[in-house]
Amino acid sequence: MKRISVRRSRVHGRGVFALQPLSAGELIIEYTGTVMSWKRAVTRHAKFGTEGHTFLFGLADGRVIDGSIGGNSARWINHACVANCEAVESEGRVLIHALANIKAGEELFISYGLTTEGRASASVRAQYACRCGHRRCRGTMLGRG
Ligand SMILES: [Zn+2]
Repeated sequence: MKRISVRRSRVHGRGVFALQPLSAGELIIEYTGTVMSWKRAVTRHAKFGTEGHTFLFGLADGRVIDGSIGGNSARWINHACVANCEAVESEGRVLIHALANIKAGEELFISYGLTTEGRASASVRAQYACRCGHRRCRGTMLGRG
């Protein structure tokens, strides 16, 4: 049974929504894609564009999973500074779990915390600005580097 679906988001472009209630801690989906360096991924996306969507998921070792290559619907999960889902990295795989009980129809969010190699340039910062609208919004999808 399908538990999530991709459709238009109020926050940004497309988003992923729960089709049925999800319980805190429940495994929702694996974040799939191609693992590459942050630098290569950013260069690639600056070149080809992704309609403002960020299909990059930061790994602990500083590399990223690029969900635009071989990725599944997890790549449409939007970032929010206060998220209802969490991505847990284990042996190079990233699994998305619910952090809280989520009602059917709610949009799923994770906190990306992308790590940049060195100081992010103004254009990179602009590309990864956060507009989640939460009162505790940090204004960026980038982690503290
Ligand atoms: Zn935010």
